[in-house]
Amino acid sequence: MCALKLTEAERRLVDRASAFTAQVIAPSITHWEANRSPLPREVVREWSSLGLNALQVPGAHGGHDASFHCKIAVAEALARVDLACAFALINIQGSVTRMVREGSPEQIARLLPGLMSGEIICAPSLTEPGAGSDFAAITTHARKVAGGWEITGEKAWVTNGAIADLLVMYAQTEPGSGADGIASFLIDLRAPGIERLPPYAMMGGHMIGAAGIRLTKVAVSDNDLFAPPGQAFKRALRGITAARTHVAAMACAMVDSALGLAIAYASRRQSFGRPLLRHQGLRWQLVDVATELEAARLLTYRATQTIADGNDAQIEAAFAKKFAAEMAIRGIAACMQAMGAEGLLDKHPLARHMASARIAAYVDGTTEIQNERIGAALVRRYAEGSKNVLF
Ligand SMILES: Cc1cc2nc3c(=O)[nH]c(=O)nc-3n(C[C@H](O)[C@H](O)[C@H](O)COP(=O)(O)OP(=O)(O)OC[C@H]3O[C@@H](n4cnc5c(N)ncnc54)[C@H](O)[C@@H]3O)c2cc1C
Repeated sequence: MCALKLTEAERRLVDRASAFTAQVIAPSITHWEANRSPLPREVVREWSSLGLNALQVPGAHGGHDASFHCKIAVAEALARVDLACAFALINIQGSVTRMVREGSPEQIARLLPGLMSGEIICAPSLTEPGAGSDFAAITTHARKVAGGWEITGEKAWVTNGAIADLLVMYAQTEPGSGADGIASFLIDLRAPGIERLPPYAMMGGHMIGAAGIRLTKVAVSDNDLFAPPGQAFKRALRGITAARTHVAAMACAMVDSALGLAIAYASRRQSFGRPLLRHQGLRWQLVDVATELEAARLLTYRATQTIADGNDAQIEAAFAKKFAAEMAIRGIAACMQAMGAEGLLDKHPLARHMASARIAAYVDGTTEIQNERIGAALVRRYAEGSKNVLF
């Protein structure tokens, strides 16, 4: 059977995440969204105090050393209530894992305790106003100077950009050299030359706290080089495969919650002398949502298992992310439709879920970019005859 495999200790961590979601997120989410609030810092501290920020940090550093399966289960628990909130917290947790796996010993000693406790919120920043899908085209420039670097440019759509203290920021060191010249740097957002731009006003999902950051001649020491040219781009792509998988898992969890709500409502609400659910046309609409949800979950868990096995999951993750994000847009619309006008009310999560489904179709590579990955694999498999490609 294709399912998440958790140890007893991991099950307890997922229960902890579910209780946190029920007690801390659920009661306030409507209010936060109405005020277009980013994730409040005290929520990050509380999440961290439960050890959830250190989910994948090895025991030697004081973490739980949890598996990728466990991370996916935690992401699902959060996203059942709010995907934007789940994405923001998982992003913060992912930055802690990235530091322990990829940071230098000096960087780990200096930053890991603050990252684990939630005192330092770190955000990855690739996208720019002029470069989204085409990440190799970024133009933020890191110029080598004695003892460090001087960085000038503008970053866009930084998740948690409204509250972050630190960026893992990608910049071009040799204009014109594309992916090969890209390096990543740790940028302290209190440094001179940093301007934090106002968070984006969107159709929903404001807990994600997305904002732009402008950098003018920001001085960065050599100690804050995170990944050198030649490595930064490759590491970013590796991280994106895992991120695509948890976005797919979050999209599934959100549809599961919408479907439960729509079915409960349709079994209570009467029309033409019987519950809505007794009308075959409406029931089948929800059956279609359930069928697609099952298919999306299977794709997601297959990608999860491939990553957990330590194998390249680029194509599995692309299938899962593409299908789950598009399924969520269709599925949530169908659930809203089944609830009639009631489905629009903000006492229900459906409108928030709809905005989040749109977000899921963009973050960590759009649906079209997943198509490009899958298309390239199709060519390798069927036109070039490579047997080592999925299908
Ligand atoms: C809420 C939110 C949070 C985000 N958080 C982060 C973050 O934390 N860090 C970060 O770095 N980025 C983040 N992003 C940015 C996200 O990764 C980009 O939105 C995404 O990469 C797409 O870039 P773009 O929006 O500039 O679209 P563009 O690249 O301008 O694309 C526009 C449209 O053209 C399509 N397109 C582009 N190229 C092709 C092609 N070759 N073939 C076919 N179609 C194509 C796209 O799929 C899209 O539909 C976030 C975005 C959102 C909405």
